[in-house]
Amino acid sequence: MSKCRACGTKIRWIQTKNGRYMPVNLENVSVEVGTLEPDTCIVTEGGSVLWGRHYRGGEINGYIVTGRISHFATCPAAGRFRRSG
Ligand SMILES: [Zn+2]
Repeated sequence: MSKCRACGTKIRWIQTKNGRYMPVNLENVSVEVGTLEPDTCIVTEGGSVLWGRHYRGGEINGYIVTGRISHFATCPAAGRFRRSG
């Protein structure tokens, strides 16, 4: 188990398809892919990075993919990542 250097939240590292490791939150989320206005970036267990709308129930216009949200998107100290590159 890893922790975010910036905020101390427990995270996991997933290797994406292009070989980079991305820090992600532990909990799984479902997003709807294929709709307009995606608002959430997830990484699947297989390392695919996908944008979709955070799915909270209701009508499905695209398809549902489950993965983990990039920790960069939710980290309260994300600004430190940007400064340090
Ligand atoms: Zn963090």
